[in-house]
Amino acid sequence: MVAESDETQKKLPGNRRIPTASNVSGRPQEHSVHTVVVDRDRCAGNGICEVLDPAHFEIGKNGALIILSPSVAPADLSRVHAAVEACPASALRVD
Ligand code: SF4
Repeated sequence: MVAESDETQKKLPGNRRIPTASNVSGRPQEHSVHTVVVDRDRCAGNGICEVLDPAHFEIGKNGALIILSPSVAPADLSRVHAAVEACPASALRVD
């Protein structure tokens, strides 16, 4: 499927295969990084998300929300989800 993986697999003796996310149990590779998205038409700029997760959200001097880091690592996911759940305008989501 992927040329680089095929080259690696060819180097193995016999029919041995290197286990990969795509050939273990036939499961697709899970996303390790999520993205947080704001609907600016809904956002009221009240800063609740910033209080809950200042690493990802900041209210700028003009009162508009700034997404400091759209990518959300798995370790940060619970904090981002807390901000998403607390948003009174339902302006945030995680893809
Ligand atoms: S909590 Fe919601 S409404 Fe408030 S600033 Fe964050 S995204 Fe905007």
